[in-house]
Amino acid sequence: MKDMKLVVIMAVKPVVRVLLFGLLFAQVVQAQEPVTPMSIPLYLSGNFGELRGGHFHSGIDFKTQERTGQPVRAVKDGFVSRVNVSPYGYGNALYINHPDGTTSVYAHLERFAPKIETAVRNRQYTTESFAVELYPSEKTFPVKQGERIAWSGNSGGSGGPHLHFEFRNTKTGKVMDALPYYKKQILDTRPPQVQGIRLYPQFSAGIVSGKIQNQSFDVSTDKAGRKSVAKTLTAWGKIGVGIKAYDVMNETSNIYGVNEIILKMDGKVIYHSLMDGFYFEDSRYINSYIDWQEWIENKSFYIKSFTEPGNKLRINLPVNQGIITINEEKVYHLEYILKDVYDNTSRLNFNIEGKPTRIPYTPPSGTYFAYNKDNTFVGQGVNLKIPAGNLYTDTYLQVGVIPNDTAFAPVYNIGERIPLHSYCPVTLDIPNDIFPDKSKYGVVQIGRGNRSWLGGKYLNGRIQAKTRELGSFTVETDNNPPVIRPVKEVDWTAKQQILLRIVDDLSGIQSYKGTLDGRFVLFEYDAKSNILSCKYDSHRMKKGEQTLRLVVTDGAGNQAEYCKQIEF
Ligand SMILES: [Zn+2]
Repeated sequence: MKDMKLVVIMAVKPVVRVLLFGLLFAQVVQAQEPVTPMSIPLYLSGNFGELRGGHFHSGIDFKTQERTGQPVRAVKDGFVSRVNVSPYGYGNALYINHPDGTTSVYAHLERFAPKIETAVRNRQYTTESFAVELYPSEKTFPVKQGERIAWSGNSGGSGGPHLHFEFRNTKTGKVMDALPYYKKQILDTRPPQVQGIRLYPQFSAGIVSGKIQNQSFDVSTDKAGRKSVAKTLTAWGKIGVGIKAYDVMNETSNIYGVNEIILKMDGKVIYHSLMDGFYFEDSRYINSYIDWQEWIENKSFYIKSFTEPGNKLRINLPVNQGIITINEEKVYHLEYILKDVYDNTSRLNFNIEGKPTRIPYTPPSGTYFAYNKDNTFVGQGVNLKIPAGNLYTDTYLQVGVIPNDTAFAPVYNIGERIPLHSYCPVTLDIPNDIFPDKSKYGVVQIGRGNRSWLGGKYLNGRIQAKTRELGSFTVETDNNPPVIRPVKEVDWTAKQQILLRIVDDLSGIQSYKGTLDGRFVLFEYDAKSNILSCKYDSHRMKKGEQTLRLVVTDGAGNQAEYCKQIEF
């Protein structure tokens, strides 16, 4: 085919020939098919858009045979446009820009190719920081398709060795599903699985099986593989529908997100979502896309097939917000169609019987907050501001105070536990403001069995923090410095590596700095295991006995210091 084109080009005039060569070249550049990022057989441990706490998964996770150190290669020609090292999130991550306007991303790496590794190390020593971000120019690290760029790892927020891989639109930053490019290398003949449905009677407008509360219904499968809802469902008025479903693939026991969801009523599409790409700024809309309360309480994901008015997620293609209206005494036929990237399809058919029922109405109490307006609540020791765009639906805010004489402040119950789209300012009174060092105060959010430190700024008997959730809060102090403990100290000299564990009880590790005889040395930090490690580096460290000094600071400014004579 290519040869044919060349023959044709050679037959035309030189000027035209140059033009045509240009066109042919452009075509070749655009047509470069990506190779796989590793040469081992590929299986996924996570797919694109799968549901995670607070975000959609932005890439595909390749298994790495349960170990780190698998060679990783550039999937197309291009240049390294960004290198990021962080104890959190992507860990060691590499970004390659390609001439076709896409960027490939490789995350949780163990280490980079030597010349990139050197540049990273230099930056870490000049900035005296483990976490660094490099944006090399186009000419610094050009790469060819298939070139070794890194080794797979388990760095950052990774929960086990794997390679997180993404394709992005370089200009817009939109992440796209990479799986369609690798369908030939990864087998999937299994359709998505359905576990249950959930019906959501709309407030004062709908009722399901005699109740105004949300209700879940199990799905059973008969011998022929047909799925159905076991119970007869009756309803009246305006109802939302949700589904609990996940995808599966061949030869793995992992579960994945469902790529495409269609809900039909009497043959008409009510709701349609397709997870083929998304913008990072949309990722937190997952808190409205799923049943957030169900996720928080039971760690289970019901996907709502209707959109709340404040949900601007751009994978939803809802018709009339996906809310169905049951207003006739007849049987309504509903059908869910679930698809994966390979077009393996599951269907769930179920009926809802229209049954006229009086819908009980209890007038809501509290302060009315509109999702599309700036909202403020002031009173009972609380000052809360929720700017427009942070609620997914209108709500009535009820504030209650539970006094606690032995604490600095009472427990402030600020509304039901609901998610906010971004951080909103909340200021709390400290009625028992007796702690001398005001900088140690922090707002603490009280969840079910856990407390999370939000910190905050103290001002005249009050403290202001930012929160992305409503619920229960109080004010506490963190006066305890982090704890530093040596790990396998007897091996340090033999293994030429210093290992320490650093933990903090409340506000968390904020920063740390290690020196040998007063000179900065690089400690790598793995936040999930709380381990700091310093490997002997012959270019930057001296041999023999020297003084190790490590200072660790927590979120409230408490410092711990560790000093020790060591020998490399
Ligand atoms: Zn991932």
